[in-house]
Amino acid sequence: MQNYQAPEGLLTDRIILVTGAGDGIGRVAAKTYAAHGATVILLGRTISKLESVYDEIEAAGHPKPAIVPLNLEGAAVKDYEEMAMTIEQNFGRLDGLLHNAGILGTRSPVELYDPETWTRVMQVNVTAPFLLTRALIPLLRQSGDASVIFSSSGVGRKAKAYWGAYAVSKFALEGLSQLLADELDDERHNVRVNSLNPGATRTSMRIMAYPAENPNQNVNPDALMPSYLYLMGADSRGVNGQQLSAQSK
Ligand code: NAP
Repeated sequence: MQNYQAPEGLLTDRIILVTGAGDGIGRVAAKTYAAHGATVILLGRTISKLESVYDEIEAAGHPKPAIVPLNLEGAAVKDYEEMAMTIEQNFGRLDGLLHNAGILGTRSPVELYDPETWTRVMQVNVTAPFLLTRALIPLLRQSGDASVIFSSSGVGRKAKAYWGAYAVSKFALEGLSQLLADELDDERHNVRVNSLNPGATRTSMRIMAYPAENPNQNVNPDALMPSYLYLMGADSRGVNGQQLSAQSK
């Protein structure tokens, strides 16, 4: 998977929603999916960033994307349901869902962890992906070959001191991923669900988590794209309920 070489038209005619599509890994994933033929629905909270991704995709001549401005911290159940209705009206189905948006919160011992920050991290990193998936399951079932990817982390598989709500939120996402993999795995609808740990990657979140680290020692998001493409395309059919990693280190 990490060395996967995607055929050029891997995602032709596929409708794929990427959360946190304006920056970091999500931005590169959205552009990469579009470059492989997908119509990408760009979800995020900073409209100017989404518009610049939109412009880049359009300028490259890839399928015209769509923008869904949504703040995952404040969005209500009805916002997700209205969004699902809009996607249904425009596309009739959803072939891929990359849960990529996330926040770090603070690095501190549990004893001192700020409760408000805890709630915000759990809202953005766990409750929002739950609400989004819940609203989109009927559209994923319409695909006949849909893929859902949850973005995990090393500390979501083995907790480490001071990672607080972020680590707990990623453990919860792993749980949600496994639940859905078991619930949605039927031969008629073929919805596969996996978690993917990108590994250390040069983005704003990584710099915030490790301010003293030399950012150049980490790979760019582009280096992860073989795994992101593999899991989103038809070659990963039958891969379900796995905890995967986009880097070997
Ligand atoms: P990033 O550069 O901080 O980007 C995060 C994205 O999520 C941004 O587009 C951000 O939007 C969006 N987002 C944050 N809060 C949001 C909200 N309330 N509503 C809507 N969108 C929101 O992070 P990244 O490093 O690319 O991380 C992507 C994923 O990989 C995350 O789930 C992260 O936990 C995981 N991960 C990253 C690393 C790493 O080394 N980078 C390692 C392990 C796991 P704005 O730009 O508008 O704020």
